[in-house]
Amino acid sequence: MKKINSKILVFIISSFHLLVMSSSLLAQKANPPGLKYIKESELKKDLYALADAHFNGRSAGTLDELKASMWLAEKYRSIGLLPAGDDGTYLQFFNLWRNHISDKSVIKINNKTAKLWNEVAVAQMANASIVAPIIYLGNAADIDTLQLDIKNKVVAIEASSKGININVSLPTWRYSRSVQAKYVMPLIRKGASAVIIIADDFAEKAWDDAAENFKRGNYDIDGGPNVTLTTTVPILWMHANAKADLQNNTAFMNANIIVDKYSYPSVNIIGKINGTDPKLKEEYVLYSGHQDAHGIRNAHNNDSTYYGADDNASVDVAMLASARAFMKNPAKRSILFVIHGAEERGLLGSRYYVQHPTVPIKNIVTVLNGDMIGRNHIDSAAFLGMQSPHKNSTELVNLILAANNEGPKFKLDTAYDKVTHVEGWYFRSDHLPYARLGIPAVMYTTLLHEDYHTPLDNAENINYPKLKKMADWMYRSAWKVANLAKRPATDANFKLER
Ligand SMILES: [Zn+2]
Repeated sequence: MKKINSKILVFIISSFHLLVMSSSLLAQKANPPGLKYIKESELKKDLYALADAHFNGRSAGTLDELKASMWLAEKYRSIGLLPAGDDGTYLQFFNLWRNHISDKSVIKINNKTAKLWNEVAVAQMANASIVAPIIYLGNAADIDTLQLDIKNKVVAIEASSKGININVSLPTWRYSRSVQAKYVMPLIRKGASAVIIIADDFAEKAWDDAAENFKRGNYDIDGGPNVTLTTTVPILWMHANAKADLQNNTAFMNANIIVDKYSYPSVNIIGKINGTDPKLKEEYVLYSGHQDAHGIRNAHNNDSTYYGADDNASVDVAMLASARAFMKNPAKRSILFVIHGAEERGLLGSRYYVQHPTVPIKNIVTVLNGDMIGRNHIDSAAFLGMQSPHKNSTELVNLILAANNEGPKFKLDTAYDKVTHVEGWYFRSDHLPYARLGIPAVMYTTLLHEDYHTPLDNAENINYPKLKKMADWMYRSAWKVANLAKRPATDANFKLER
């Protein structure tokens, strides 16, 4: 009995062993080897640290952005990435040019000083010295610009929402600029020397958000369009109660508006894991995110820190998780991790990097960018660059679709990637400068939500199981690209619509 039993036992054990071996072989085929090292617990721990109040919302060009960047560089080091920035470090510093309204500016209406940002907001900056009467033109929607003679005149109008779409993301950030584009630009083309806009109801609601943006001014890198101010015509916003003074056509302006210009540093954080193939290791799969958020601003629900947990700490911590996975099991190609600075100021870090790449740019075979990957329903996601004209590599797109099918099986949104989509989302993140060079590039995202660019984009509101699924998907995609025999081809005739 005992003997027979042990024979049977040996048989059972060895068949079980075979079963385990074959199923693990199957699993290995479906799952890239480092997948198990991407852990929800680590994603969560890193995200809470990076989106902590300690970093004050990581505004570009501030010490807070630099502090967060040092934290990320230290993470790279502890994970074991090789430095791939400048001078043997993880860092690539670059200069931001900033133009903003000097506190020394003085704007007086009827000899009474209007308090900068509280009573008057400068929406279009210009160095200007103005002593002139103010001509009131009425409501923006009722003005017949054809009949106007306003050359070298200071004019005032009342804002109108007529013909302006406020059903977009961040309407309070965008409304003032939409009004200016629609109603003020025609006045400037007619020769107005300054324009005052009196806030309507929606502009009053949007005032705090808009003023914060105007206060910050313009940012750019060397060679960019915002380095030098090109206009001499200031655009000012005043509150609805200013109408009483302005509408009688007896008001007078006395203003000295000064624009300060200076440079200060931002930084890209760059590390790599060398590939295992003697030839293919010269090529790079580039993971992309950004560390900056929106800093300290006007409060929402008594909180004034714009933590940027989803935007974009979510992607940074997914990159750290992927780095851990690739460290355990390197791929044939090298993996380059680039967390870009100053994305929120106009994709400045990525625009700088493509001009000053730290590896040969022709050896970057794919860019997998992510922006906001930790919110909304656990089964939904998107990647932009999957449809024409945004699609620049059919081969890469197919591979990412396959990675989705093999792993997270997200139901993919296709609306945001369409040219007709109101958000123009494709043009708003760091894959863009790379795509413009013809490098196969996509952007992973879980799309917009109502906490976008508010203090409620915080660590508590991240969906961690979902973030884990997104990190898995990006890793699966990267693993595939990094082991292809031949790099993904760029589609012929790829051309973006703007
Ligand atoms: Zn972002």
